[in-house]
Amino acid sequence: MNSIDLTPIEKLTKARIQLQRSHPFWAYLSLGLRFQNFPKGIADDPHAQTAGVDAHGNLYYNDDFINKLSITDTKTLLAHEVSHVAYSHLLRVGTRHKQMWNVAADYVVNDILLRNNFPKMEGMLLDSRFSEKSTEEVYEELLQNPPPNLPLFDTHMYSTNGGSSDDPSQQGMRISPSQVKAMERKWKRKLVEAYEHSKKAGNAPAGMERLIDNLLHSKVSWRTILTRYILNRIPFDWTYRKPSKISRVLKTVYLPSTLKESIDIIVGIDTSCSIGEKELALFKGDMLNISNSFQQVNMHVITCDTKVYDDFTLTNGTRTQFEKLKLQGGGGTDLRKIFDRVTTKGMNTPRNILIMFTDGYTPFPDSKPPINTIWVSTEASKEDYPKWGQYIRVEVK
Ligand SMILES: [Zn+2]
Repeated sequence: MNSIDLTPIEKLTKARIQLQRSHPFWAYLSLGLRFQNFPKGIADDPHAQTAGVDAHGNLYYNDDFINKLSITDTKTLLAHEVSHVAYSHLLRVGTRHKQMWNVAADYVVNDILLRNNFPKMEGMLLDSRFSEKSTEEVYEELLQNPPPNLPLFDTHMYSTNGGSSDDPSQQGMRISPSQVKAMERKWKRKLVEAYEHSKKAGNAPAGMERLIDNLLHSKVSWRTILTRYILNRIPFDWTYRKPSKISRVLKTVYLPSTLKESIDIIVGIDTSCSIGEKELALFKGDMLNISNSFQQVNMHVITCDTKVYDDFTLTNGTRTQFEKLKLQGGGGTDLRKIFDRVTTKGMNTPRNILIMFTDGYTPFPDSKPPINTIWVSTEASKEDYPKWGQYIRVEVK
């Protein structure tokens, strides 16, 4: 039977079977997809003219779109869509701007597909600048340099916590935070299984080793965790304006104007301790990066052992002062002085973040302060810190 005679669902099924020979990794993953037409009510929407996927593994498609695809392109489409689900792109968006995250996710997915000999499909977003980068990294770069209007290749359907929207890409089923965690775990397991499966078939995917290794050993670098934590708290106005009829017809991507809201990040550095210079250098580098990359971040630096030494706002003028910060060594430690200083400055609010770089050998405030506190710990373990606050262990190989 010629592929032209196949119904859309037969074509998708045939493509899935053929993937098993050429790309067993994606074939295995795509077993978790359920094929169906876009739901009635949104089928006429511009977002529903190609294909899309939600976090549950439902692959939605438009009949006309699938009818026009070759089997080869259908295979690529399947791999593209299942990648979004398997990498939990739809669950990891957090408070990020969705449209920009979609674009970042597409660059990452397509880069991996092309490196695994999938042919390029019309309308695919590709950019060699983003090769071998994580979605978070690409997203950050895009934020600094927002792309011009980009065509939509597919629809990434996010789950919402209720609320209605007539934009189908913003619609979805309700998912609780514990369901999100469970789904992420499920797909991580599937990724590892798919990798094992493809290795047995003698055809393991390229460019996935790091990802799989991280999944197997659940090792995420402290820098990634810290950066992700901060990025998730940078406010964006993502209740952006609905696209006008015109922009819907033109299929332009509507980027929002970001609200110029800002957050204060207080970087507390324990200078008394046995923190390694290498760890401190990396930490400072990350903080500088974040401060340079986001207009919305005001960064304040406070150093302390038993009393506060430096207390300044990080600007171009104080950059060198920050870069030159050294550990003093010796003496005791009382980081409560940093909490006191933050309170005195009126920054002790839930909007702000206090990142404390320390070995953890210090008295702590008696009660939970209102500010989001992150302990970036070089020595003490999680149990040594108060129950409130985030704990990140520094490990430098
Ligand atoms: Zn996509």
